[in-house]
Order: sequence, then C-alpha cells, then structure tokens
Amino acid sequence: MVIVTKTTIPQSHLDSMIEEFKTKGFELNIIRGKDSIVIGLIGDTHALDADRLLLNPDVERIMRVQEPFKKASRKFHPMNTSIKVGNASIGDEKSFVVMAGPCSVESKEQILTVAKSVKESGAAILRGGAYKPRTSPYSFQGLELEGLELLKEARRETGLPIVTEIMSPHLVEIFENNVDIIQVGARNMQNFDLLKELGKTTKPILLKRGLSSTIEEWLMSAEYIMAGGNPNVILCERGIRTFETYTRNTLDLSAIPAVKKLSHLPVVVDPSHSAGINWMVESLSLAAMAVGADGLIVEVHNDPKSALCDGAQSLDLDQYANLMKKLGAMSTHFGKQM
Ligand code: PEP
Ligand code: MN
Repeated sequence: MVIVTKTTIPQSHLDSMIEEFKTKGFELNIIRGKDSIVIGLIGDTHALDADRLLLNPDVERIMRVQEPFKKASRKFHPMNTSIKVGNASIGDEKSFVVMAGPCSVESKEQILTVAKSVKESGAAILRGGAYKPRTSPYSFQGLELEGLELLKEARRETGLPIVTEIMSPHLVEIFENNVDIIQVGARNMQNFDLLKELGKTTKPILLKRGLSSTIEEWLMSAEYIMAGGNPNVILCERGIRTFETYTRNTLDLSAIPAVKKLSHLPVVVDPSHSAGINWMVESLSLAAMAVGADGLIVEVHNDPKSALCDGAQSLDLDQYANLMKKLGAMSTHFGKQM
C-alpha cells in the first residue's frame, strides 16, 4: 500500500504515523518529494482499512498495490488450478467440461430422460435445481430433498456427477454428503454466512457471479470460501445486469480473460441465464470456448415449452446434441478435449 501525505503535514504527525505503522509490524519505505511525502508500506496490508486512513487530514491519497484477494490470486499461485469431478478435470488447459441438465428437477421421468440424453450427447456433469431461488414466492420453488434424491438416482443410472444449487447454510452438510459440486447461485454470491460454511467443506463449489457484481467482488467471494479452507472453487460467469433489455442479462465475455489473468481458478460460462433466450445459447457457448473458458453449464429440457422454470432459455435434447457437435469440432482447433 502506498500513502501519499499532504505537503503541509507537520513533522510530529509524520513521526507518529510512522511509529504507528512500525508497531503494526510494517516495514516502511519513505520518499520525500518536492510536493509530497510518499510512504510505501511493506507487509500484509489486507486488514488495513484505506478509507479509515483517509480520515487523517494529513493524508492526501492511498493506493493499493496488491489485489485484496490472496488465495484466489494468480500472483501467489501461478499454475492453473484444476478440479477433478468424476472423469472431468475442470480448469485443465486441455479440457472443456460441459455440465448440462434442466433448470429444475421436476419429476423422475424428466430428470432421467434428460440425464440419459445429455450423457449420450457428451455431457460430463448433470445439472438440476432442487432448491430454486425464484423472484416470486408463487413460482415453483423446487422439489427440495425429493429433487436431491432424484438427482442421485439419475447419477446412479448414468454415472454422471451432479451439480445443484444450495441456498441455505443449514443445508451444507446434506449437500456435502449427497452432491458432487455445490452451486452457489448469483443471488447468494455475497451470502457470506453461506460462503463461510462452504469454506469448511472440501466439496467443489461452483460460484456464480452476482447479478451486479464486479470481478473483484466475485473473486472476494471465492476468497471467503478459500480462506475457510476449501480451495476447490470454480467460477461461473452467468451474465450481469446492464441497461440492455433485449437479453435477460449481458454475458460479460471479457470477464473470462480477466479472471484468467487475475486468478488461477477455473472459470466456466452459463450461456442460458446470460441471454435468457434459447436460440442464443449456441453462439454464446462457442464464444465462451473461444475466449478461454474451461467449460459450460447449460440448461437442457426434454420439453422446454412445459418446463416449470426457465423453459425459454432451455435447449431441447436435439439442440443440445447439435451444440455438442459444434463444440466438439471447435475444440480440436483450441486443443481441448471434451
Ligand atoms: C440456475 O442455475 O438455475 C440459476 C438460478 O442461476 P443463477 O443463480 O445464475 O441465476
Ligand atoms: Mn435456471
């Protein structure tokens, strides 16, 4: 951290500032310029509150040199993190992992039909919501525990690992014992109690980007999970709120190379919630591979017209099979295996 003081700072104030930082264990590098004094603080400044330091009338400006996230940062962990789930390695430079399935688990027949079909077309992981974060309390809220049981049945039938969304910290133990990847939805990206509980497990966590979250806020949420002791975080860009109304959200494709530069964590794209429109899913999926995403999580339904949630953005089984063919053809160009 760099602190720039005003030229008018009395020597006694400067001395007591220096003393205070030294007693906090920092090494100081002080440069006296013509117009200001620059203090370089060397040490772990993460716990220092820059805004509070600015309350000091002798301080002109504060600049952070390092990002506030550490465990998620590529600076401290230059190699990519790759997370193994079933036969898939998410984050492995040579692989592109596709997770697919319905927005919500609706019935045994529905989840088994979709699971078998997406497996056949080449999905590595089955998705399906059992606890649904719906905007309206009158909308279908998910089959909850019964939904988890149906997902497990689909896993038994197909061998596909399962990813499903958690909403409450009270359910962490149940999810830990029953699912392969725990999804944190966009609406819960900053549910810090939930993140702290998930930090106590070692399950892979699929952390979706918040509806209006910056990349830094998103990585700070990953940091919560990692700081708790769980290094297995997979980031998921799922579109952000912008002024545009044509699409449900705006897919921030630039977030993928940005996250790859800032962090060693794997990052996947959700092309379904990004646009909210079924016919855009294919283009956005191909774009995701082109910008370097480690995979996708795609909504697929056997009968999108009658889906209880997110039918408009769901691919039907044939559309999904077609998408997988196109991704497969493109993957050879990018040296990725699917
Ligand atoms: C979902 O995956 O079904 C979902 C609700 O996603 P998001 O949290 O990105 O809106
Ligand atoms: Mn959905």
